[in-house]
Amino acid sequence: MEQLGDLELLMEKSFGDKAEPPAEPFQKKVEASSSKTVLSCGMDNRYLVLAVNIVQNEEGNHEKHLLITASQSLENKELCILRNDWCSVPVEPGDIIHLEGDCTSDTWLIDEDFGFLILYPDMLISGTSIASSIRCMRRAVLSETFRSPDPASRQMLIGTVLHEVFQKAISDSFAPEKLQELAFQTVQEIRHLKEMYRLNLNQDELKQEVEEYLPSFSKWAGDFMHNCNSTGFPQMQLSLLLYLAEGVDLVALVHCDKLPSDGSNNNTTCNIEVIKSLDIEESIWSPRFGLKGKIDVTVGVKIHRGCKVKDIIMPLELKTGKESNSIEHRSQLVLYTLLSQERRSDPEAGLLLYLKTGQMYAVPANHLDKRELLRLRNQMAFSLFHRISKSATGNEKTKLAPLPQIIEEQQTCKYCSQVGNCALYSRAVEQQTDDSSVPIGMLPQIKEETQHLKLTHLEYFSLWCLMLTLESQSKDNKKNHQNIWLMSSSEMEQSGNCIGNLIRTEHVKTVGDGQYLHNFQRKNGAMPITNLMAGDRIILSGEERTLFALSRGYVKEISRTTVTCLLDRNLSVLPESTLFRLDQEEKNCDINTPLGNLSKLMKNTDTSQKLRELIIDLREPQFISYLSSVLPHDAKDAVASILKGLNKPQRQAMKKVLLSRDYTLIVGMPGTGKTTTICTLLIVATTCMGINHPIFSRKVFDFCIVDEASQISQPVCLGPLFFSRRFVLVGDHQQLPPLVLNREARALGMSESLFKRLEQNKDAVVQLTVQYRMNSKIMSLSNKLTYEGKLECGSDKVANAVINLPNFKDVKLELEFYADYSESPWLIGAFEPNNPVCFLNTDQVPAPEQVEKSGVSNITEAKLIVFLTLTFIKAGCNPSDIGIIAPYRQQLKIINDLLAHSSVGVVEVNTVDKYQGRDKSIILVSFVRSNQDGTLGELLKDWRRLNVAITRAKHKLILLGCVSSLNRYPPLGKLLCHLNSEKLIIDLPSGEHESLCYVLGDFQRR
Ligand code: SF4
Repeated sequence: MEQLGDLELLMEKSFGDKAEPPAEPFQKKVEASSSKTVLSCGMDNRYLVLAVNIVQNEEGNHEKHLLITASQSLENKELCILRNDWCSVPVEPGDIIHLEGDCTSDTWLIDEDFGFLILYPDMLISGTSIASSIRCMRRAVLSETFRSPDPASRQMLIGTVLHEVFQKAISDSFAPEKLQELAFQTVQEIRHLKEMYRLNLNQDELKQEVEEYLPSFSKWAGDFMHNCNSTGFPQMQLSLLLYLAEGVDLVALVHCDKLPSDGSNNNTTCNIEVIKSLDIEESIWSPRFGLKGKIDVTVGVKIHRGCKVKDIIMPLELKTGKESNSIEHRSQLVLYTLLSQERRSDPEAGLLLYLKTGQMYAVPANHLDKRELLRLRNQMAFSLFHRISKSATGNEKTKLAPLPQIIEEQQTCKYCSQVGNCALYSRAVEQQTDDSSVPIGMLPQIKEETQHLKLTHLEYFSLWCLMLTLESQSKDNKKNHQNIWLMSSSEMEQSGNCIGNLIRTEHVKTVGDGQYLHNFQRKNGAMPITNLMAGDRIILSGEERTLFALSRGYVKEISRTTVTCLLDRNLSVLPESTLFRLDQEEKNCDINTPLGNLSKLMKNTDTSQKLRELIIDLREPQFISYLSSVLPHDAKDAVASILKGLNKPQRQAMKKVLLSRDYTLIVGMPGTGKTTTICTLLIVATTCMGINHPIFSRKVFDFCIVDEASQISQPVCLGPLFFSRRFVLVGDHQQLPPLVLNREARALGMSESLFKRLEQNKDAVVQLTVQYRMNSKIMSLSNKLTYEGKLECGSDKVANAVINLPNFKDVKLELEFYADYSESPWLIGAFEPNNPVCFLNTDQVPAPEQVEKSGVSNITEAKLIVFLTLTFIKAGCNPSDIGIIAPYRQQLKIINDLLAHSSVGVVEVNTVDKYQGRDKSIILVSFVRSNQDGTLGELLKDWRRLNVAITRAKHKLILLGCVSSLNRYPPLGKLLCHLNSEKLIIDLPSGEHESLCYVLGDFQRR
């Protein structure tokens, strides 16, 4: 997948009778792209497609010939021949494929009886989605794209509870009284109680519905789980899909009724005995077949066939709805047999159990079923991969690609959960280019679903869909999960986002519903330097390839020797010697939530209509004239006493909020007590992504307050706004905007927050200008750079506060002895508490930057920063009061490495972005860039990032860098000019870092 960015221009099919030698520009593109893709042979092979040709074979049939390579140098070429239906796989030059089957004399043959081709195998698609694509591929792609933010329905809740009762019983007992007890316990669990609250359902009602199923549970256990004579078990057929063996297409079967179950084709009748449950909700990722899924129950079974008995581990899928034995249900099982092969030998069949009746079907997975389902998977992968269409020449604008065709199947469309998005996408995206794509029969439905929308609304939807899709395809987002199987943990540790070679220590503690506390330590040696922190989301895998993504969770605590994690599965079932790896799970790539919000914004409801008017049409917000008209008489005293604790701008903000009918924007400049103001306004607190809490489904709030709103992208910010009558956005667009990695998405406007968009309605804006963080000298920098003198200190105490260093006298004496402190202006500038700001210029040191594959760094600056840090700590500063900021990750890593060799406590070393909204007593900034050739990095060009960096310190701000290089950046040039005029730039003497190393070594020894 990584190759997409470079190969977008190559996505033209090169069909022809004769294989053409690849053109030179193409060759260059392939070389460039393949260097980023791990090409390999063997079980997890990854081939790059170099050319695609259609040829006619001797029998006159068409075949698709792929010229492929698994070598990074692109030298060893092989041929892959696709026959029969495999010819329709939409594979193109530049694609990455995985092949299953045999390769003889450098030639793979994939036909209807042998071999599989997996397109984009690193895109893992769930078995459920593929099964749902059988009836409508468009619906499956829409469901993957617009995951519904809608909460569970009553039927879904009952299904979940039934699953859990069964899953518990299979490891315990199916005795009627035990089932009653388990049902009672399960219904009482907090998360189910929350859902009941949301659905307005009481416990008795739910329990009653669940109890109706329990006799069938017992019946099933009686039929399949007793341990005596096997002949007592019902006979099962493993010939369910014999139709397919006779050459009937799986998709064609969709519209047939149930397959015959009269045993007429039955030549493999057997008895199945379920021995035990081996796993519940087993999560499996298969980068071999490009699949993922969770198996309801993994069971050990004995298959009795005549006098033969075979032990086998099989997937058991539970269904709570109607006993349909549908093609979708059976397909899911076939896909689970493929998934199971990642962990154990091929089960060759799966079990499908309908909980309402206790009826169980065996679903054999033969080659033909797998072939058809993998072909559907490939089509789906193609649609998901090609969501953006670009012209080969690059002359046309980037657009969203059409989705798979709308089907004309009234019954399917009538019950389709994606009908709204299907119509919306058709109107907003597809019909802009091609009116004929919609079947005539569907036109009235599309009209009905979208007639309430204006053209501007459709354009807004289409633009944000495009930007979000572009962003999701940006390099960093795409690679996230794939690194778990594409890179070893030792390689990934270099990035700081992974820790490998871990073993479990201590007992696993169950701390709540589906939450298990695990402790890990390194098997050999010390823990690596890592960016992982408490609170980070992680994916836990085994180091072995069979154990990818065993569990998800959070880091609870991390020290130099151990890491404690809260996981969603109990891993004590695995052998103690199992080696694990933790990978950080970035949620940047989650576009489902914003797309879901966007889709909700287009709904035909009063709330969505009002939000469309305000956000898309930019209708002016309305305000009431007098507070007395909105405040109840008896609330006046309470409000007055709340206002008394606030400063003037905060009071004005409160008043504005209370008078608003639609929304208010509070500009919270750095340190101006946004939190205080918000707490005064507060009702319920959550994150924009946390709006699935049941309280939001039952209550409409008077106000919704979104903090740090200038950092949140528009469709994410929308999420909570649906639950209130009015909203308040708190932010500051002079600080960091929403992070957008994709250059094209940025150019289209994706980094414009809702706060910034609405700020053009000046009436809605109120500013907080009185700050309580920085002393006056530090504040003046930001006033000069950004706020035009509007920021003021909240009190003299704030304005004059300096760092408290209880051991400073002793340290000064030592520095005098080792480094002539009183003769050294830069040491005085840096350490004297009465000098809150200084810029240390490395021009004469010198301190050149290093640009390597791993990133940009500056070792001399790193050494100086560590010297300053350790000296402050020695002078009595608490390590947690010091913050180190650098714009590049490689520099953070070097500083962390150097600090790790000293025995100080944990000092936070991070990028500017991670410091927004926070402060420290001392901030040290290493600017890194120092070169002669004039290269400018993107990160330092953004004046908002600089504004955040210089407004984090309360008492001391030390900036370190090369003035002559940094002057080339306009924002830094402006800052340096001001610092110069205030005489706050101090030159470091030549070679200073070397003599400091000596001082530092001596400091550390003592
Ligand atoms: S409405 Fe019909 S065509 Fe559209 S996604 Fe649903 S099933 Fe497919």
